[in-house]
Amino acid sequence: MRVAVIGTGYVGLVSGACMAELGHHVACLDVDAGKIERLKRGEIPIYEPGLEEIVKRNMENGRLSFTTSFADVIPGAEVVSIAVGTPSAEDGTVDMRYVDAASQEIGRHLTGYAVIANKSTVPVGTSERVTASIHETATQPFDVVSNPETLREGRAVYDFLHPSRIIIGASSQRAADVMTTLFAYIDCPKVVTDPRSAELTKYASNAFLATKISFINEVAHICEEVGADVEDVARGMGLDPRIGKDFLRAGLGWGGSCFPKDVLALAKLGESLSHPLPVVNAAIRTNRLTRTRVVERLEKALGGVQGKTVAILGLAFKDNTDDTRESAAVDIAKELWKRGATVRAYDPVARVSPEQIGFDLVHAADPYEAAKGADAVVLATEWEEFRTLDLGKLKSVMAGDVLMDGRNLLKSQDALANKFTYLRVGKKVV
Ligand code: NAD
Repeated sequence: MRVAVIGTGYVGLVSGACMAELGHHVACLDVDAGKIERLKRGEIPIYEPGLEEIVKRNMENGRLSFTTSFADVIPGAEVVSIAVGTPSAEDGTVDMRYVDAASQEIGRHLTGYAVIANKSTVPVGTSERVTASIHETATQPFDVVSNPETLREGRAVYDFLHPSRIIIGASSQRAADVMTTLFAYIDCPKVVTDPRSAELTKYASNAFLATKISFINEVAHICEEVGADVEDVARGMGLDPRIGKDFLRAGLGWGGSCFPKDVLALAKLGESLSHPLPVVNAAIRTNRLTRTRVVERLEKALGGVQGKTVAILGLAFKDNTDDTRESAAVDIAKELWKRGATVRAYDPVARVSPEQIGFDLVHAADPYEAAKGADAVVLATEWEEFRTLDLGKLKSVMAGDVLMDGRNLLKSQDALANKFTYLRVGKKVV
């Protein structure tokens, strides 16, 4: 099939490349001309394991191309996937300006029947909104479907090609058939429903997972107070099939480009319907508290952070990505800096700008350089390479002895052997 993908970010680039891998002819479009130029040269603008290989392979075999021109990609496309950003507006609702702009361009360039499939995470009712917008300029028949994306950054290529389900919210059988043909080679349940249910499914899923994380973090805080071990508690809970073991890892709370904005958007939707969602709002509050609690525990361990030096290991919101949007590491670094600490950081791939973090953060070349002269080290992202940190070397370059393992990644015997004051989430201090 001929497919156009509008928006070539984390979702658009991965889904475009993967659809080409499935045998479709895919043109990826972005308004960011610099990004498109880099892609045309074979340079991948994001860090995502396995992505470079499939982008290059499909560019070489002629199934994947990049452009900034709607006139190049919309005429003749059977499916047009919208994958533009839907960030939070200032009031927490969804900023729809990119979806609206893309819809208008699509309408202007349609030359025959096409299915416009919305992959972006969008408020309930967006399919109607996009339909109305395209109708303003389109002269050709079309259908709009909701096809929310469920991939996870860091595992995005695998997730796209091996999803647990594909959600298709279509208002016509013709559109549903086009979408099931598009994904015919992906062996998973296809949930075909109406557009509003599909749109809400995405928000409900993200809010549920975020709530599960907030819940286990609340249990972790209790564990710290009563001397219990959150990993054992979570294991005991997770083996109950009604609960399940996923998303029961206590840590620094949820972050990234999706959960924070999507959970907030659902809370705002409830508010706008005079139907406040207390569970969802509590999950948001607990998530904030989880960040603050880490800083407060550090303050206690150091006797205040004013004038102290803290090294943060990891800046990405999770491992295997360079995405630092709403990252716990960044929030904690900001808070420490606000409270008067000097903050340095190391991440294998992620970087933050002074505009994003509010000060000029020193990015060290490795964990030991970051820790040089530090009073405390905070392990903030679960990068695999941190599991094998040489704790003896780390301690030898530090001025202090506080090690906060925000991801419960290290071996406590190692920390103990190297005489750290070792703080973990939901576990006793050793
Ligand atoms: P992103 O910011 O990485 O990429 C969005 C891209 O859209 C940018 O390259 C931007 O230049 C481009 N763009 C903006 N306006 C455009 C326009 N009018 N025409 C063409 N291109 C335009 O965002 P993302 O992380 O890929 O997320 C995209 C959507 O997918 C969001 O709604 C997000 O919530 C959702 N989503 C993201 C993930 C994830 O893990 N990142 C997972 C599932 C769903």
